[in-house]
Amino acid sequence: MSEGADHLADVRGRIAAAARAAGRNPANVTLVAVSKTHGADRVRELLAVGHRVFGENRVQEAEEKFPALKADYPDLKLHLIGPLQTNKVREAVALFDTIESVDRERLAASLAKEMARAGKWPDCFIQVNTGEEPQKAGVLPADLDAFVAACRDAHKLPVVGLMCIPPVDEEPALHFALLAKMAARNGLLQVSMGMSADYEIAVRLGATYVRVGSALFGARQAHA
Ligand SMILES: *Cc1c(COP(=O)(O)O)cnc(C)c1O
Repeated sequence: MSEGADHLADVRGRIAAAARAAGRNPANVTLVAVSKTHGADRVRELLAVGHRVFGENRVQEAEEKFPALKADYPDLKLHLIGPLQTNKVREAVALFDTIESVDRERLAASLAKEMARAGKWPDCFIQVNTGEEPQKAGVLPADLDAFVAACRDAHKLPVVGLMCIPPVDEEPALHFALLAKMAARNGLLQVSMGMSADYEIAVRLGATYVRVGSALFGARQAHA
């Protein structure tokens, strides 16, 4: 087995154990393998053993890697997990199956317009800045319910869930519990939370998607 396949089996096992410990069905947790900064060859290692869901945080990097992979594996699903600029919306809607970083009105409007034009409706997550960090993307918790309503009702975006990236120096469980509560309150079934350091905690607290990079692929080079 490749090293990637080895790590994949380990992470999958941990997700399943965490789900069972919480009385959840492991099938309700999807592992998004975050391949940013890693080459297509590393992605192919996981494709070869049946993994199909990947995440990238930059549109341009994903455009360089994924069209060829999607051609070879038509059931590959790609998530955009990083910030989206409105001038990249066309490329994003064309390439990604899920956009996890919807976080402002102008972007929501632009996505809705492009989806209608392209006739393609990627699932959308609203990113929530649960730690209320000034430098971080995401809607503030206090503004969330109104933003979800605007995305659904005014823009008719296919909003399926919420996503967060907790502050690095805080207990992630508090943020995960808050995100799960906000999703339930808004009738949203999908919750994307948990990374390499804390995905088991996220699964215990209700994550339906975990985004795991370095635990699968090893450490990244500087840029991301
Ligand atoms: C890079 C990244 C991840 C994965 O991080 P790891 O700690 O390597 O698992 C998850 N979510 C987002 C938004 C990221 O940018």
